[in-house]
Amino acid sequence: METETESRTYDLLIDGELVPAAAGERFQTLNPATEEAVGAVARAREADVDRAVTAANDAFDDWSSTPPQERGRLLDDLAEAIRAQQESLALLETRDNGKPLSHARADVETCARYFEYYAGVADKVHGDSIPLTDDYVDYTVREPLGVTAQIIPWNLPTNIFGRSVAPALATGNTAVVKPAEQTPLTAVEIGRLATEVGIPDGVLNVVPGFGAEAGAPLSAHPDVDGVSFTGSVPTGIEVGKSALENVTNVHLELGGKSPNVVWPDADIDSAVDSTMTGIFANAGQVCSAGSRLLVHEDVKDEFLDVLTDRIEEMTLDNGETDPDMGPLVSEEHFEKVTNYLEIGRAEAGEPLVGGDALDRDGYFVEPTVFTGVDNDMRIAQEEIFGPVLSVIEFSTEAEAIELANDVDYGLVAGIHTQNMGRAHRFARDVRAGQVYINEWFAGGEETPFGGFKESGFGREKGLAAVDAYTQVKNVCADISPK
Ligand code: NAD
Repeated sequence: METETESRTYDLLIDGELVPAAAGERFQTLNPATEEAVGAVARAREADVDRAVTAANDAFDDWSSTPPQERGRLLDDLAEAIRAQQESLALLETRDNGKPLSHARADVETCARYFEYYAGVADKVHGDSIPLTDDYVDYTVREPLGVTAQIIPWNLPTNIFGRSVAPALATGNTAVVKPAEQTPLTAVEIGRLATEVGIPDGVLNVVPGFGAEAGAPLSAHPDVDGVSFTGSVPTGIEVGKSALENVTNVHLELGGKSPNVVWPDADIDSAVDSTMTGIFANAGQVCSAGSRLLVHEDVKDEFLDVLTDRIEEMTLDNGETDPDMGPLVSEEHFEKVTNYLEIGRAEAGEPLVGGDALDRDGYFVEPTVFTGVDNDMRIAQEEIFGPVLSVIEFSTEAEAIELANDVDYGLVAGIHTQNMGRAHRFARDVRAGQVYINEWFAGGEETPFGGFKESGFGREKGLAAVDAYTQVKNVCADISPK
């Protein structure tokens, strides 16, 4: 794979072939650290989506009847091929997305790990036998949905590619992937690797393009049998509606405004580390970011002192130099986040730390902490999707849980305390799909993930994704003597 800095062209992957878009158009992706071109990418529209869905449809019968252990072996081979290209894929991701190189490397490893994990799952997808009376034999089988669509956001392109595609293929579905227009490059490269390791033509197709031009016709396509959408709430609602027009199975992985609760008995250094990872990893552009810090009044000053010192040591630079934080993904997103800095100033006053964009090329925003935040302010309720932490004080357990739940989202929640009773009461009472105790982003490829409330429905990761990508058939036989 090439790693030179100049821009090159990327095609669509349809039916095992790298092809230009039918209309011959391309769009440019930009390096958000330098604003220079990274790739000229084929721009898929409805006709291209249609070709990809047809290819996936044609490939389905053979792929779904391929012995599961053989499907597993191919996914394992893909995992190895991705690992072998870790450096070049990571560099490509950093240039396309802006994230620090070590984060991009970790995302590539996570993607490989998803293919490895689901390779092992492929031959363990089975049903139940259900006892009725002696007159019947009843059992269930799990069958693939058919052609599935994966619509992917720009914040974790390689990671979410693995998370949504690997379980689909493992369970016998075929796939048409629509990566985000800001960051489509690694998806095309991983698609190419899939053909190289022998995943049959048409099983995995990649159609980069814009939401309205490629995403919308894909989610509305009558021959698509399942849609996995990861992205924002407004787009998720549109995708959900158009999928339901065809009664297509859909699951939605949406945004968050997740509470990170710190008690005085927490290990403060570790809680500060965890808080920083939770809000500054990927420049805060993570659905499960810990963007609301709920800190107990008795530890607030000490906690914020340590946090401020640590933030002042952070490096903010081009992701290729492997800083602590890189730029935001695009000019449009930079405008959104800097607008929230102004909203924050108007609502909560000057930030304790940060609050400005850097005066240089690229879309750099300082790590920022607003204190004196009320939970009903916009900076406490709305997903900023940037390195902006809103700090809210509490004094009792009841207040902590009420604040934690007082938001439309319910993706994740975290708590830092040595009191395990308190931690598990929080886990019981908080309305979120995943709870972290004493470490933000705890869990792995094996753990189910998805939202409560407006953060979505359906689960990905772990064995839960097998449910999402299969449908249950019940078979009942009358075996009574006749
Ligand atoms: P987005 O909703 O703007 O776009 C997501 C994808 O949908 C892109 O590929 C886009 O091209 C496509 N799209 C846009 N309009 C479409 C349409 N009308 N029909 C079909 N597809 C369309 O989201 P984004 O800005 O790329 O990503 C950020 C959002 O994603 C945040 O809200 C974040 O919290 C969320 N997210 C959620 C998870 C999760 O697992 N829950 C993970 C990562 C990101």
